[in-house]
Amino acid sequence: MAPTHEVFNQPPPLVDHDVFDDDVALVEAVQRYDAGWAADRLTALGTMAGTAEAQEWGRLANENPPTLLTVDRYGRRVDEVEFHPSWHRLMEVAIGHGLHASSWVEDRPGAQVARAAGFSVWSQVEGGHGCPVSMTHAAVPALRVDDALAAEWVPRLTSYTYDPGLRPPAEKAGCLAGMGMTEKQGGSDVRTNTTRAVEQTDGSYLLTGHKWFTSAPMCDVFLVLAQAEHGLTCFLVPRVLPDGGRNTFRIQRLKNKLGNRSNASSEPEFDDTVAWRLGDEGRGVRTIIEMVMMTRLDCVIGSTSLMRACVSQATHHARHRQAFGDYLVDKPLMRNVLADLALESEAATVTMARLAGATDAAIAGDEREAAFRRIGLAVGKYWICKRGPAVAAEALECLGGNGYVEDFPMARLYREAPLNSIWEGSGNVNALDVLRALGREPQAMQAFLDEVGAAAGADTRLDAAVAEVKRELDDSTEIEVRARRLVERMALVLQGSLLVRHSPPAVSDAFCASRLAGDWGHAFGTLPRQVDAGAIVQRATPKVG
Ligand SMILES: Cc1cc2nc3c(=O)[nH]c(=O)nc-3n(C[C@H](O)[C@H](O)[C@H](O)COP(=O)(O)OP(=O)(O)OC[C@H]3O[C@@H](n4cnc5c(N)ncnc54)[C@H](O)[C@@H]3O)c2cc1C
Repeated sequence: MAPTHEVFNQPPPLVDHDVFDDDVALVEAVQRYDAGWAADRLTALGTMAGTAEAQEWGRLANENPPTLLTVDRYGRRVDEVEFHPSWHRLMEVAIGHGLHASSWVEDRPGAQVARAAGFSVWSQVEGGHGCPVSMTHAAVPALRVDDALAAEWVPRLTSYTYDPGLRPPAEKAGCLAGMGMTEKQGGSDVRTNTTRAVEQTDGSYLLTGHKWFTSAPMCDVFLVLAQAEHGLTCFLVPRVLPDGGRNTFRIQRLKNKLGNRSNASSEPEFDDTVAWRLGDEGRGVRTIIEMVMMTRLDCVIGSTSLMRACVSQATHHARHRQAFGDYLVDKPLMRNVLADLALESEAATVTMARLAGATDAAIAGDEREAAFRRIGLAVGKYWICKRGPAVAAEALECLGGNGYVEDFPMARLYREAPLNSIWEGSGNVNALDVLRALGREPQAMQAFLDEVGAAAGADTRLDAAVAEVKRELDDSTEIEVRARRLVERMALVLQGSLLVRHSPPAVSDAFCASRLAGDWGHAFGTLPRQVDAGAIVQRATPKVG
């Protein structure tokens, strides 16, 4: 058959590039926060993330979502989830590179930053499998409230061997952890949990009730909230009991989700399910909050990673696609859009790294950094996760019609984008949590003001915005209705302060002009004309081809 036409002016796929080294803002941040020692391994992971093979795993894991097997072929209840081989390849790399554990195993400065950078790099291949990786990482500090349970489970959860399948935990080379808090009647307000816990004579408990969202139900163990005699309590629930028998964990359904399709999210029911108490009765939220703090950081990392992937795709496309006689990247208006997107991505990156660095310092006992982390995580989680969908939508449009087609990565990134803002405290809940920190922990507010104040005098627009935030903070009138507005402004001055101190003038100038001084529109691509959009875009563009 004679060809009807030549295919041209279609950009090459963004493959065979180093996802880490190409992310200049991330490379700089890794050095800044004591994780330079991890650069070589991040380069290796970034190189793997940039391969066509890894990207194909991501595509296939989403095209072939997990399936639930409630019973085996003989009718016996099994409650297992089957995954496509590509999911297992993604998990093997993630676990093999310690993205679930390296910060606990490597007790050295910068360990959380190194792990955050790795998680950010590898999540750009595929977001869904980050869920069990993140929850396994986050379970460790919560488990440490109980020496005996920690001694039993932390070595399993920090093993670098990916060993899928439900078997007795003691026989497995590595285990994974999930969490069950949300019930039908309430996810934000977990005090409404109705799952009951009854203590047994041997000190264990039996749980009866349900959870409405429990992701990654193939994990080996879950931290679960339930009502015990003295109130809401955290429990450890293994899927397989020490004697090899299955614990009751009836998976009613898998969620049919907008995105995040490679990952299974389930509705389990407990019926005299064996559990061990973690922390005191009535202190369930206090106990599981250690896990939530870590998963909140991972939401920040996940959205940062997603925005970086969006910017990479958009800048790469614009560099190779021509319209009206020029490459898109050379069209002034497209350059404005790309620069605006790149600013959002770099602002998220510096914030994410700063929060990971604060986590390192807090764990090492630095009280001031712990106070900053307390408020900075809630501020960062609120704002960075909110920016993800906006960035994804605009980056998708940079690819024109191809952006809207499932054959290209943008459609998947777009569907994934809203999720981080929902779980681990939806937008309002996070904004209200900032108010809680401000009200109850004066040292957190001071730590935040010290951090933004570290750039005082460097940019008059930043100074003015910080002064405005201080005025807002001093005014407690109808503070709840103003929470989003206040937290957004806090996030912007934090990002401005970090960019002014650590990023090139082109980046910090454009950020201060647009986000702080208000010389900006309501859509991306509305930066004022004097900014150096070319330098910002060049810094953000992957170096390939
Ligand atoms: C894909 C996916 C996977 C998930 N995986 C898990 C999991 O593994 N484990 C788990 O426990 N949960 C999981 N969740 C559940 C998730 O954490 C909850 O959906 C989330 O916490 C919100 O709870 P909710 O759905 O009950 O909504 P609600 O709590 O009813 O909240 C609805 C809305 O009201 C807002 N709101 C709540 N309180 C206030 C207030 N005081 N003032 C103003 N606004 C308020 C919220 O911000 C939200 O926008 C998952 C969710 C999704 C989508």
